[in-house]
Formats: sequence, structure tokens, C-alpha cells
Amino acid sequence: MKMTRRNFLKVSGVSTGLALTGLFSLRSVRAKAETFRSRIRYAKQVTTICPYCGVGCGQIVSVRNGEVINIEGDSDHPINEGSLCSKGGALYQVAINERRLTHPRYRAPGATDWEEVSWDWALKEIAKRIKKTRDDTFEIKDKQGRTVNRTEAIGWLGSAAIDNEECYLAVKLARALGIVFLEHQARLCHSSTVAALAESFGRGAMTNHWIDIRNSDCIFIIGSNAAENHPIAFKWVTKAKERGAKLINADPRFTRTSSKADIYAPFRSGTDVAFIGGIINYCLENELYNKEYVIEYTNAPFLIDPKFGFKDGLFSGYNLKQRKYDKATWRYQSDGKGIPKEDKTLQDPNCVFQLMKKHYSSYDVDTVGQVTGTPKDVYLEIAKTYCATGQRGKAGTIMYAMGTTQHTNAAQMIRSYAMLQLLLGNIGVSGGGVNALRGWSNVQGATDHCILFHILPGYLKTYRAEDKDLATYLKHWTPKSSDPKSVNYWKNTPKFVISQLKAFYGNSATKENDFCYDHLPKISGNYSHISMFEAMYEGKVKGLISLGQNPAVAGPNVRMERKAMENLDWLVTIDLWETETAAFWKGPEADPAKIKTEAFLLPAACSVEKEGSVTNSGRWSQWRYQAVQPSGEAKRDLWTIDRIFRSVRGLYSYEGGVYPEGILDIAWSYGDEPDVHKVAREINGYDLTTGRLLPSFGKLKDDGSTSSGNWLYCGSYTEKGNMAARRGLSDPSGIGLYPEWSWCWPVNRRIIYNRASCDTNGRPWDSEHPVIRWTGSRWIGDVPDYGATVPPEKNVGAFIMKPEGHARLFGMGLADGPFPEHYEPLESPVKNLLSNTQNDPVIKIWKSEMDEVGTPDKFPIIATTFRVTEHWLGGPLTRNLPWLAELMPEMFVEISKSLAQEKGIRNGDKVRIASARGQIEAIACVTNRMKPFRMNGKTYEQIGLPWHYGFMGLATGASANVLTPHVGDANTMIPEYKAFLCNVEKGVV
Ligand code: SF4
Repeated sequence: MKMTRRNFLKVSGVSTGLALTGLFSLRSVRAKAETFRSRIRYAKQVTTICPYCGVGCGQIVSVRNGEVINIEGDSDHPINEGSLCSKGGALYQVAINERRLTHPRYRAPGATDWEEVSWDWALKEIAKRIKKTRDDTFEIKDKQGRTVNRTEAIGWLGSAAIDNEECYLAVKLARALGIVFLEHQARLCHSSTVAALAESFGRGAMTNHWIDIRNSDCIFIIGSNAAENHPIAFKWVTKAKERGAKLINADPRFTRTSSKADIYAPFRSGTDVAFIGGIINYCLENELYNKEYVIEYTNAPFLIDPKFGFKDGLFSGYNLKQRKYDKATWRYQSDGKGIPKEDKTLQDPNCVFQLMKKHYSSYDVDTVGQVTGTPKDVYLEIAKTYCATGQRGKAGTIMYAMGTTQHTNAAQMIRSYAMLQLLLGNIGVSGGGVNALRGWSNVQGATDHCILFHILPGYLKTYRAEDKDLATYLKHWTPKSSDPKSVNYWKNTPKFVISQLKAFYGNSATKENDFCYDHLPKISGNYSHISMFEAMYEGKVKGLISLGQNPAVAGPNVRMERKAMENLDWLVTIDLWETETAAFWKGPEADPAKIKTEAFLLPAACSVEKEGSVTNSGRWSQWRYQAVQPSGEAKRDLWTIDRIFRSVRGLYSYEGGVYPEGILDIAWSYGDEPDVHKVAREINGYDLTTGRLLPSFGKLKDDGSTSSGNWLYCGSYTEKGNMAARRGLSDPSGIGLYPEWSWCWPVNRRIIYNRASCDTNGRPWDSEHPVIRWTGSRWIGDVPDYGATVPPEKNVGAFIMKPEGHARLFGMGLADGPFPEHYEPLESPVKNLLSNTQNDPVIKIWKSEMDEVGTPDKFPIIATTFRVTEHWLGGPLTRNLPWLAELMPEMFVEISKSLAQEKGIRNGDKVRIASARGQIEAIACVTNRMKPFRMNGKTYEQIGLPWHYGFMGLATGASANVLTPHVGDANTMIPEYKAFLCNVEKGVV
């Protein structure tokens, strides 16, 4: 028998089962495999996309008699080529699982259990709760008399787990209700990525894509355990290694990724800016940067206001009382026409290049070693190896994940990666980029559709109270450039905004009524995840809708967040399982009799029970098809969102209420069984004069004659059909672009900023892996960044989303400085060695009685959190599966041998881990993977905790987030999960 990959997996699956029952023999395995194969052969086969991580692997679902009989990797899929990791391989147990919710449930105030209810009843009651809370709390004007049309008493969470069409409709519903506390998982996992990359390059997403990693000469993985958490993506790392690429890994723990690295560097969690700042310094001192790239494509030559300065950890303009910067001096000098002044010799002391050189001059190898704990020889080897990618024709990529993104200065850490990559000419090129490894199958799509308080679909700024009308808003948020060479693509903001208002409000949106601008809620503060739970803790948020999100495990300081939920009048949870969030009133410290919250739990369909698109980390929007009907009475999220909206709208049209026009004017008509294709087409947009779908966002207009729910996805569903569903496998580029597989934003461009992959003459830096090139009359290859016939000699800025057309080494848009500067985590046992400014100076410190901050005298040990390959994030989608629960059944903690010895702890002992927020119990895993750091003559111990566990499901255990602080990054308020203080003792809680 020829053992293909597909056959092998089937045989090994069968053999495992037989070995367990004691019936193993090769002959019987073969017979069983044969029977199994023929069952699949005659089954209906449906393609889908894995619902777990952001790699976006393809799967084939085999269906017989309306039931899933097998799920396996799609061997045609160019990313996974048939392979799946442990989670993707266990998806069958999501489809067939007795623990799935099959009926809506209700929990009355003070009740100790759920009761089963009908959908009809649940929807009516939920609509009544939403309407009452909205009517009781709706603000038409704020205290300053500005129109705001919002409620701050209802929160919405989620979801990165749902399809793009569902995300879009969720946003439309939430905004129509006036909800401003609108968030999803991206706030907690990669919000700092968006802020940092958008500031540096113009867009907030992964620059390249998974397959392209194979083209790299050097892969630097920092803040990610890709081998374990994005295993199929890591396959492309190994392909690059087979070509001779070097793999560098820097991580506080020695992980499975470290075990495959050519160079591994331990470094203390939270010191990325020091680590990378030292490499930037090494690169500049040794002139290893790509000079032509730096001069032509970055703002290195731009002159900065001579009054700009930096002293002892603070940039000019800091206001200690307000904990805020006045950024007046963080700006370019400009000529009389408003064009930034440049010095292309890079010698002017006020040019960005010289300021950057000065800034990082203190990040010498010895100081960096004392801050990070990395041995000097290893550090120098990394600096030398990675900086070699600055040579023409070489490419290095940086891959990172939540080890980086979850710190109080996380956005600046990612900025430091971006800066290093710009210096080395690694952006826009094949095998290069800053590649954010995203953890949810559609966290990229949910971010693009902006289930986030501060942005509207397509990264348009949410309307502010101070933007009194549409004209004011557009003036405020449409960037200007006087430079004729700059494309300044955001100048099209009015077209995107007005087309979106047409998609939201249809015929009700007219020029005369400002296209219904007033209807959408206006914000005047921060409504992010941490703020939402602080407001809930204070009793200000009365109702919460949590769709596919599990904050009772995944939120920071979960004891506090669970306690905050006790203040809710009502909670609606929509999920596949009874999660810790749905059942917060059953939690370890909860007394159900005292909790008055009414809870509704609505059963959701899983990924193979519905169709729609999901966008992977590399921006590929891929269509997945429905294989079977939902389990029991579970419903597609699109259906549930649609029904909630229609139930609420019904109440407003019969009874009236506060500001009903915001709800009644919305364009909402997707059919009785909402048609996902109709939503996908609305997202794409129409020429309203002809009714035809638009081919790309280049056709959008600002006069109300076009509509597009999300301009970024304009081109995803055109008159040619559903582009996300494409399965073409041609790769004319030879570098793995696969332009006819699915659809990629923007405009199917697979590597963004690709103009920078060529020199000023349009010749690729790397002739072996050209992304685009100028033929003399046009650009060929990937979809170029701008006009296919714009010649290179026009010298149009390569970074078209930035008003100056150049990527920013000096970024004036962030809250905490134009250059990344090292600060210690909020809780750290170490004094900042680089300045007297200990923590990021603009972070917000919350003051509730449950927001305690720990000090090293009581909590001397550094703690960090991590993930295991068998479990997925907050856990419901893996801790309910017998296969995965068995593999990773309970909570543990990784402890170094020296700490174990000091505390008398042996492998397998139960230990208590305490922080200022609470304490948990875990099994000790005493391991060499964890080592203490030696810095400045002192030893600092560190422990590592997986954060997947909770009190529901098959595999249960203490939640690591009981220990983490409720503090966020200066720019995005992503929580600082990855570095905090604790203590460890042998024994039980
Ligand atoms: Fe692929 Fe990620 Fe699914 Fe694993 S979890 S099969 S890597 S998409």
C-alpha cells in the first residue's frame, strides 16, 4: 500500500484507537483503514478553514447522512499542504461533542442553575433588557452640550472567532444601539501591533504572509513560541532553514522554538526595547544598514524641530501632572510650502538619523546585557548575524506574538522591530517584514472590521464628541500632504467614510442630513477592555453581550473582572459551550444567591456549521463552506445578531423610545434566514447609480453615489464573484504569492509596501526573490503599491499610507515617544538602568481596591504567561475536547531547578503562586527550560504559567490571570500579561 500523507494519518488514527482496546495488529489496522477510507471516499467533502489560530490552514470535512465523519488537512491548501497541528487535527471533536450547547438557557437572579428556554422567549427578553438599559442611560448630548448619541451602560465583547460578515454585522448592530464599550480579543492580543505598525509603515497588519517566510535568509523569532503556537507556520521556517537560513530565537523560556534555533538568547521578559535598541546601536555603529533604502524610503533624512530633546528617559514636552506629552516639538521642520526639510547626507544633527544614533548610543552591549540578562557573547552573535541581512539581496524577517504585545510599552517594542527592519531594508521585500503571529482564526478580520471602540470598519477613526458634524470630522481626520511626490492614500478618507455611511444607513443617508453622521455614537474617552471592566466594577456598565469571548479566563486580573460581572443587571453570552464567562456566577469565589445578574446563554454554530470568510494573519480572506446543520438549536452568529437587532428594532418601532431614529434608519435587510453573501456584498460595496458591485476601493466616491461597509474589503466580492472563495494554485512569481488563492487585502497585494523591494531604479534588491520589478513601462509581479505604470524616476514615496510617503523611524504619533525607550514593566524587581524613569511615563494606573500593584519585597519573583500547543487561548474550544484535555489535563507552572531547590519543591508537587491580586494552585514542573537571570551581580528567578485554564470544561485548573495586573500599554491599553511579580511556595491554596 502506498503510504500517502493522508493514508498515514488515517492509519495512525485507527491504530491509536485499536492499541487502546488491545486489538492492535497490522492486518486489522489495514482493514480498518480501508473501511475508513471507503467511508470517506463516498462521503460529501466540504472545504473549510481551521477555526483556531491565525495561520488559516485548510481542512476537508467529510459528511455522511448529515453528520461529520472526518476532518483532515486540505492537501491542496498552499499554506498547510494537508498538515494540521494538534488543535486543527482535533476539530472533529468540536463538531461531534456532547458538551456543546444545543438550546438557549436562562439564569434568573440568585438562581443556582440554568433553565432551558426557547429562542423566541430569549430573544424577546434580551431585546427588552437592551432597550430598557439603552433608554435609561442614553446620552443625546454630553455635559458640554455636544451631540454624542451613545450609551455607556452596555458593553459588547467579541469576536475574533466569528466570520468577517458576522463581525461587520456585529459592529453595525452595536453602533446602531449607540454602544461605545465595544471591544474584542484583539485588544488583548495584538492591539499594540496595529498601533506600532501603522505608525511605522501606515498599516497595522503583518507585512508579508506565511509561505513567504521560506524566502528568508534569517528568521528572528522574539516574543513567540511559533513552533508550538503556530506550528504550521513554523513549517515555513523549517523550509527556510533547509535553504540555509539562520533561525534566531530570543525568549525568557527555552521553548520548542528555541530547540530548533541556530542561536538562542534568554532575555528577561519586558526588556525587548533594550534588546532591540542594542542591535539598532550595533547596526548604526558598524554601518550595517542599507543606506540607499534608509535615505529614500524612511524619514531618516528628515529634519526635526531643533527644540526636540530627550533627557533621562523623557522626551521633550512631558507633563508630569497630566502624565502626558505635549508633542509640539515632535515634528518635522518644513520649507515655506509645508514640505518636510531633508538632509540626504544624514549629517545634520537634527535629522532623524542623527537623533536616532544619539538616542541608541547608550544601548551599548554591556548595558543591554545588564538590563536583559542575555550573555554578551550570544548577544553579539545575534547582532552580527541579524544585521548581515542589511546587505543587498539578503532578507531577514521578525516574527513575534504575545510575548511582545502584552507589556506596558508594547507598542514601542514593536516599533523597535519596525525600525530595525527599516534600517536593514527588510520591509516590502520577500522573506522580510515584521510579521505578527495572530492567535485567532479571524482576529485579523475582526480587527479590520473594527469591533473596537476607537475605530470603524476599515480603520476609520470613531467619531469624537468634538467632531460636531461630518465636515469637522473629515477635516480633523483626513491627513494632508503638500508634497507632490506623496500619494498620501488616507487623503481618500471622505470617500471611505461617506460610502460606509451609505452602507450603514442606505437611502436614509443623504447629503442634506450629513449622511446620518449624527446617528453613530461619539466617543470622548477610552472605552477599551480594561476601562470597560473598571466601569463595570463601579456599576456603570449594566449589560454585557459577550460573543465568543471568555474574559472570565482571558481578561487581566480575572478575580476583579469576575467580580465586576456581578454588578451587571444582565449578561448575554453567545458560545458553543458553557464558558467561565457565561457561568461566572458559579466561579470559585462566587455566591450565586447574592448575584442578581440575569444571564442568557445562546448556543452558537461551530465553524463547519456555517459559511463565511475569515482573514488569516497574512491578510488572506478565505471562504469556508457549511458542511452540516448546526448542532441542536444552535444558530449561526449571523442569525443571532440579525435576530437581536430585529427584536430591538421591533420594540422601538412599536413603542418608541430614546433616539429611535438611530435604530430605525439603519439599512438592515438580509432576509429571514440572513444571507451571508448579501452581507459580504454590502461590505464590498456598490456603485449605487448602476447597482453593480465595485471592483476596488479606487472607485469609491464621496458624493453618496457609492457604498462600502468596509473600504479595505472593497474588491473582495465583485461582479466577477466571491474572490475569497478562489482556489487557484498558480504562482507565477515563484515566491509563493498564490495570487488566485482566496483574496488578500489591500487589492489582493500579498506583500505590502512592495515598492520598497526595489531600488530607486525599480530593480529588485533581491533578484532571486523579486516581489515586483519595473519593466521600463510597468511594474510586474505582486500588485504594486501604486499605479502599475508610475515610473520609478517619479520617486513617489514607497509608503503610500503615510502623508510624507516615507516609513517612520521617528514616529510622532504614539503617546509615549517618537523613539522606543526602555522602561521596566509596572511590576519589576529591577531598577531601570537606562534612566531614572522606571515605568512608561504615560500609562494609566487604576485605583480600585482590586487593582493592587505588587512590590519586590513581597513578591520577588518575575512571572510570565505562555501557551501550549494543545490548548487554545481562554480554553473553551480545547478544554472541552477529550483528545486535547487528556493531553494537557491540568494547570502547571514551570520553575527553574534553582528556585525549586531554594523552596524545597519537587517536580509534581502542588505549589501556591501569589501576586498582589490573588493566589492560585498549580503542579510544579521543575525544568531546565526556566533559568534565573544574572544581572548587575544579582540573581532574579522567573516562572512561567500557561494561561488557558478555568473552572469549566473537561480540563480544569486555576486561571493564571488571577495573578496578572489590570494595567495596559500606554498607547492601546493592551494588558501587561507577560511580566509581573509573584511569590511561590510549596503547598495548596
Ligand atoms: Fe493550522 Fe493554526 Fe489550525 Fe494548527 S491551529 S491547524 S496551525 S490554523
